[in-house]
Amino acid sequence: MLELNSVSVDYGAVKAVQSVNLRVNEGEVVALLGPNGAGKTSLISAVMGIVQVSSGNIRFEGRDVTLAPPEEKVRCGIGISPEGRRVFANLTVAENLQLGGSAQPDKAIRAEQLTKYLEMFPILKERYHQKAGTLSGGEQQQLAISRCLMSRPRIVMLDEPSLGLAPVIVERIFELIAELKASGLTILLVEQNANEALSVADRAYLLHSGRLRFEGAAQELLNSHDLMSHYMGLGEAQ
Ligand code: ATP
Repeated sequence: MLELNSVSVDYGAVKAVQSVNLRVNEGEVVALLGPNGAGKTSLISAVMGIVQVSSGNIRFEGRDVTLAPPEEKVRCGIGISPEGRRVFANLTVAENLQLGGSAQPDKAIRAEQLTKYLEMFPILKERYHQKAGTLSGGEQQQLAISRCLMSRPRIVMLDEPSLGLAPVIVERIFELIAELKASGLTILLVEQNANEALSVADRAYLLHSGRLRFEGAAQELLNSHDLMSHYMGLGEAQ
């Protein structure tokens, strides 16, 4: 479904991503792991067209989308829930969700999407007319994810959805990711919370200093104490 071939991203002299090959098949949850500064956000920003690749190419459903701008990527079916949530704090939950669905011209489909995600994220129904800035971190994360889903992406890239959340909320976010997976959504999950991400993922990539250090089954990485401790600074993986 999504294929990155020898993708590099440079910021001047900084080589953030170096010749990465990555694939996400339809219906899979793929974890993209790595410590701070590994290049994870740069990689998915390149997929979204937010930053330009300096070399390599990106294909989505067989089509070369390397140079497509973000709005075209959204139209193609690629969605992103950015790091740090980035909800519109002064707009209500309802308005945030409307904005997420604004690229969808069919009103009936928009309404159907809204019903679906308010059912899946009941807290957003409760907070529907509240300003997004008054929501807790976990609630804002749910809003950011559902806002992205309102555009009906076929693949969604979640950038560190558990960042800065209390453990009990992190657990809820991973339950939601598992629900989205069960609904058939294809997900590229960027995380530093390796154990949780690998528990929900089918396959995983490990990025360090812009280069891939591992590619394989999520379970294999979870069991590889050497890789996990060397690159993620984790001891025994649970
Ligand atoms: P984090 O988990 O901290 O978000 P990350 O794995 O997502 O890390 P990136 O944010 O992609 O990593 O950063 C990769 C490298 O590129 C880092 O060295 C970072 O300092 C650098 N970098 C990121 N964005 C820019 C930018 N706009 N200009 C210059 N350098 C940047």
